Amino acid sequence: MASRSSALARPPAFRGVGRSILLTLPMALWSLLMFTPSFQHASGDHYIGAAAVILFMTGLFFLMMRTGETYRWRRIFFVALGFLFPVGFIAALVAERGTMSIPISRMVSGDTPFCFMVTPSIILPAAFARTVIFPGSILPTASNPHSIAIMIGLWFALTLVMGKAWCSYACFFGGIEEGFAALPKRRRLHRFITRFGAQLRLIPWAILVFVVLVSAAIFEPVYCMWLCPFKAVTEFPAVRNVETAIQMVVFIALFVGLVVVLPYLTKKRTQCGFFCPFGAFQSLFNKINLFEIRINREKCVDCGLCQTSCPTVALSKDSIREGKTLLNCMKCGACVDACKKDAAVWHLKGTPVAAKPERARLLFLYGTWALATMFGGSVLANGVHTLIGFLPLK
Ligand code: SF4
Ligand code: SF4
Repeated sequence: MASRSSALARPPAFRGVGRSILLTLPMALWSLLMFTPSFQHASGDHYIGAAAVILFMTGLFFLMMRTGETYRWRRIFFVALGFLFPVGFIAALVAERGTMSIPISRMVSGDTPFCFMVTPSIILPAAFARTVIFPGSILPTASNPHSIAIMIGLWFALTLVMGKAWCSYACFFGGIEEGFAALPKRRRLHRFITRFGAQLRLIPWAILVFVVLVSAAIFEPVYCMWLCPFKAVTEFPAVRNVETAIQMVVFIALFVGLVVVLPYLTKKRTQCGFFCPFGAFQSLFNKINLFEIRINREKCVDCGLCQTSCPTVALSKDSIREGKTLLNCMKCGACVDACKKDAAVWHLKGTPVAAKPERARLLFLYGTWALATMFGGSVLANGVHTLIGFLPLK
């Protein structure tokens, strides 16, 4: 009788080098756009950064094609994105103002970069009071190209293509936490998370409702002012009284707890899965996105490997039995890669489940990786350029 491990053995490798190169070619050509003036300042360092990013992104795409695995290669990009974003962002802030804190004069003048995390909070005031409750400029200015209109436009374009996959291919904040989750350590709290997964998944929705309603009631972006863990590694209000001191303590405590310690211990994305209201908001767009992960019940042996591997608890025993992921699935591909029976599959909505899963994966990756290369790639290039600037080369 076959042993359990041999019964679960995954079929051997995926596709040849030539075919993988052919499939990577369109992505390599697309990524050359990073050399165009819209992505570049005309300097040698910037071109070096762009060249490094092009090699990096097309190399990872090639490995996805060659191995048939998605999660492990995507994670390398995503973690790099998470850690290089603050490098470039903080260096730019310090070069310009000498500090990471926002002077009150900048907030009054509205000259601050718009953060996509605030998007759900600004919708009600914008719709009903024609007021954008964020201290940023609506249109780009010379000193602030990350205006509200540009960032909302970018967010919308990426969301249409990716849905909730935004959270695993575009959100640099998620990359930081995924990096800490990837550090070697035995998984802790696994039973707790499995047992209370349904309740934990509700928390981001409760926070979303809270921040949307309270932001609309008091006309201030409450999440941004009081609850964002990532203020600790981007910019924050200057500490000038008890209130701003408390804000700072909250930002740092949330960052250390939810982005560093808990991901490290649990191997889950605890901030993304159990706290982030923007992540809950993005889940809604999974409904209109063309791609999803499904479980082929004809092949599934209910081993639960996919559930264990999911970083945001987007699978439950019931959902596996129904052949579906939950609404908060961010299409990271961990469950598909973990499934030894090829039962967890990429799926293009409207087609039979598991009919052509690799075609669905390819179509999804072409759109998503192309946008990740442009959006994330320019963040990576900026981070690389900043790091090059730290080198004692001159
Ligand atoms: S889909 Fe999940 S439960 Fe089913 S065989 Fe694959 S890993 Fe096991
Ligand atoms: S269900 Fe699968 S693809 Fe979705 S978030 Fe979980 S591991 Fe990633």
